[in-house]
Amino acid sequence: MKLKLYCPKCYAGSPYIQIPAMDYKCKKCSTIIPINVSESIISKNIIDICCSCNCGTFYTERASNRKIGCLVIVSAIVAYIWLSTIVGQWALFALLSAAVVDFTIYSLTTIRTVCYRCLSEYIGAKTNPEHKPFDNNTAARYAEKL
Ligand SMILES: [Zn+2]
Ligand SMILES: [Zn+2]
Repeated sequence: MKLKLYCPKCYAGSPYIQIPAMDYKCKKCSTIIPINVSESIISKNIIDICCSCNCGTFYTERASNRKIGCLVIVSAIVAYIWLSTIVGQWALFALLSAAVVDFTIYSLTTIRTVCYRCLSEYIGAKTNPEHKPFDNNTAARYAEKL
């Protein structure tokens, strides 16, 4: 899996680092950010504790471009309206195939796991069922602690 850190001092983002890795030195302000890779990350490729801040609360999001998905759906609706005047109910196939294409794009995109506390991003990890999509209440809780 790969990790992207944010410097606690200058907030500069790091490139994606292949972990396990050595401590990261911020390219901008030279702050050393320790990377502590947990047992679960090494042996199971599952994130349990953040390598950067030891926090255990994460959210997942899709690193996909939802614009492509929208484009597929919009063009399918246009095609549906146009086709329905020609082939009638068969035009439904245009809608159905678009849904399939959209779903395929959606399922192929990578999942990104983000730490609530330090906003480190992880890609290439196995999905941890405990990690849910972004939640405002949880985020607010961590924002207060900072
Ligand atoms: Zn920095
Ligand atoms: Zn963290």
